[in-house]
Amino acid sequence: MRMIGLIGGMSFESSAVYYRLVNEAVRARLGGLSSAEVLLHSVNFEEIVSLQKAGRWDDAARRLGDVAEGLERAGSACVLICTNTMHLVADEVQARIGVPLIHIIDETAAALKAAGRSRPLLLATRYTMEHGFYCDRMKKLGIDVMVPDTEDRGVTHDIIFSELCAGSIRNASREKMIAIIEKAKTAGADSVILGCTEICLLLDPENLPLPGFDSTAIHAGAAVNFALGHRTETAEKDAA
Ligand code: GLU
Repeated sequence: MRMIGLIGGMSFESSAVYYRLVNEAVRARLGGLSSAEVLLHSVNFEEIVSLQKAGRWDDAARRLGDVAEGLERAGSACVLICTNTMHLVADEVQARIGVPLIHIIDETAAALKAAGRSRPLLLATRYTMEHGFYCDRMKKLGIDVMVPDTEDRGVTHDIIFSELCAGSIRNASREKMIAIIEKAKTAGADSVILGCTEICLLLDPENLPLPGFDSTAIHAGAAVNFALGHRTETAEKDAA
């Protein structure tokens, strides 16, 4: 089994989910008390949030690049950035290492395509919904992403940072997000991407007005496929 390197802490609430998912998947595949070989470098999220707010993406790229290098030196055969937002600097991080960076956008696109979906609503941070890196990459992969209107983007962003990343799960926020999904369904969306790695703490992708695609579960699953040597052909082809 190959070692999975996780860049976590963004936030630690979702890193804990990644840790559980990769271990559960390895146990399910290999049986007995099998568990994943994992290295986790969990950063101080407050530092990263300050860089995000200041638009200091180059500094953030350097910081995550340093962490990725450390994970590779310590024996990781692949690296995952355990947040959609910080894939804004994924190319810079990949350039620092010789092992593959398993890309959350490519894996999510592959999952959508495998399910025959092409017009998903994206629920994510403002950075992910507005900076272009996410929607542009999806477009190149044949997926036409829809984002909520300005007000609903603000609502979603605030729920992520003020509640989910802070460990607070509220029914009222779940209802708000479901209302945003209902609106998108009326506007023609055929699916919804939980495009922030904490949203799975609030929404069950199996129980939404549209078919849900949980980026955390998809990304963790891709890491396990890689670790066990079963990386999906679709993701590899699409990423090429
Ligand atoms: N984990 C979140 C994401 O997937 C948000 C935290 C961050 O800003 O990195 O985008």
